[in-house]
Amino acid sequence: MKKLILLSLTGFLLVGCVANIFNSSAANEGKDYKDSHLSSLEVDKVDWKSKDKQYWAEVLTPLQYKVTREAGTERSYTGKYWDSKVSGTYVCSNCGQHLFSSETKYKSGTGWPSFWKAISDTAVAEKDDSKFGMTRTEIVCSRCGAHLGHVFSDGPQPTGKRYCMNSVSLILIPNQKEK
Ligand SMILES: [Zn+2]
Repeated sequence: MKKLILLSLTGFLLVGCVANIFNSSAANEGKDYKDSHLSSLEVDKVDWKSKDKQYWAEVLTPLQYKVTREAGTERSYTGKYWDSKVSGTYVCSNCGQHLFSSETKYKSGTGWPSFWKAISDTAVAEKDDSKFGMTRTEIVCSRCGAHLGHVFSDGPQPTGKRYCMNSVSLILIPNQKEK
C-alpha cells in the first residue's frame, strides 16, 4: 500500500506543474483512474507507441496498467462505466484518442461497457487472441496499443457486433450541456 501511495505521489509531482486542460481530469482521478498525463495540449502529437513500460507504470494506476498494458480484465460490474448513461465520447485512458460514442453504447448484461460500433474505422485495431483455449478477437487502441477488450459477433443491429470493453481502458468526456 505504501508503495502504491509513493507511486501515485511520484506521478503527481511529475505532472503537477503542467497546466491541466484535459477536460475530465479532475473528475477522473482516483484509486483506479488516473489521466493527469493527458493534461497536455499536444496529446495528438505525442509518439505514444514509443512509450515504454516504465512510463506507463508511472502514469497509470496499477489496475489501468494491468488491464491496458498486460491485457488484463477488470471484474465485471466493478468498473466506472458499465452502467453509465451519460452522453459523451469515450477516449483511450492511455493516450486520449477518441474511441466510442455513447450513442452506440448499449446494455449487454455483461457488467462491462459495451458498444455496437467504434467511433471510426481507424480508432481501434483487431488482434487474434487465443489465450485460455479460446479464439477471440482482441481490441486495442490504434494509437498507443492499449488493450481495450474484445469484440464478439452477438451484438445488436445494425452491426451485430459487441465491443466488450474495460472501464479502466476508457475515459468518458461528457458532452457539454446544451443551453
Ligand atoms: Zn490509446
